[in-house]
Amino acid sequence: MLLEQLRLCRNLYNAALQERRDAYRKAGKTVTAYDQMKYLTEIKAALPEYKGVYSQVLQDVLKRLEKAFQGFFRRVKAGQTPGYPRFKGAGWYDSICYPQSGFSVSEKTAYFSKIGNIRIRLHRPLSGKVKTATITRDCGEWYVSYVCEVEAAPLPATGSQVGVDMGTTYFCITSDGEFVENPRHFQRSMKALRVKQRSLSRKKRGSNRWKKAKAAVAKLHRKVARQRLDFHHKTATKLIRENDLVAHEDLNVSGMGKGNLARSIHDVGWGQFFSLLAVKAVSAGRQVIRVDPKYTSQACNKCGHTCRENRVSQSRFVCVACGHTANADHNAALNILARALPSVQNVEVMRGLRSPGLQSGE
Ligand SMILES: [Zn+2]
Repeated sequence: MLLEQLRLCRNLYNAALQERRDAYRKAGKTVTAYDQMKYLTEIKAALPEYKGVYSQVLQDVLKRLEKAFQGFFRRVKAGQTPGYPRFKGAGWYDSICYPQSGFSVSEKTAYFSKIGNIRIRLHRPLSGKVKTATITRDCGEWYVSYVCEVEAAPLPATGSQVGVDMGTTYFCITSDGEFVENPRHFQRSMKALRVKQRSLSRKKRGSNRWKKAKAAVAKLHRKVARQRLDFHHKTATKLIRENDLVAHEDLNVSGMGKGNLARSIHDVGWGQFFSLLAVKAVSAGRQVIRVDPKYTSQACNKCGHTCRENRVSQSRFVCVACGHTANADHNAALNILARALPSVQNVEVMRGLRSPGLQSGE
């Protein structure tokens, strides 16, 4: 039944995409999701199988397409290489969303209008006001996720601030001198993933062995993603719990300036980490500040002297002006924190400063 729902929604998505393309090519007209929603009744009359899908789920399909187009136009405007919204193949449409109503949930079952009751394993009790429910297919398993609106729960002030420098050998280094390593089990999975991917690339495309290897890679990908997410959650929670203010580099800026491949590979993971940090900060009443990453690794934290020669090696920092010697990443983390402090609005936070010899870099 769930597969049938996915199939119908995927077909609607593709048909709606086709319509938008045709309308634009033939008449230069832009069709919106709301234009298309008007035809849902007609579609149901012509194709009765669509009566078996909840109406808001169908509307959500059209809104997703709208979102894809908005993203496309935004990228065109920004001068990036835009990918035109694509037709979804059989394996490429994996979820449906009940955006408002038509669902309920209890300890043992999830109810969905037009689908019925589904036995579930509830991972944790829902809190707050349940807003949406999304059913997702993932590696042959099915999940329901609920988005809930919860009250913010501000934490008591700690009087501490921290700067975080993202690393490649280490996950990050804090201005407190803490080196946060990528967890070993996560690195092990990354290694196993590379092995499995190599094995997949040797199989004949479309063969049974290939399908099996592909499923194995997909499962391991999911595992790696989950381990990474878990680690990001824990690291972000710790930083937010222990500090009133967390400063980190603004990645969008650094992506242009640094051009370091290893760093850009990590960007994917960092983006997730930063957004978790931001979300947790809002809910805990903490502050997260993104700073310009320019020269954070070249500026001396003691005297402010900035030049390339300051950084002796990947890990060692020796200031040519004042002779200050430090771990390069720790020095950078201190610079990041110092850079965030002038932009702190809250006077109370400023008063609570520990700042051991902090000076703004330039
Ligand atoms: Zn110096």
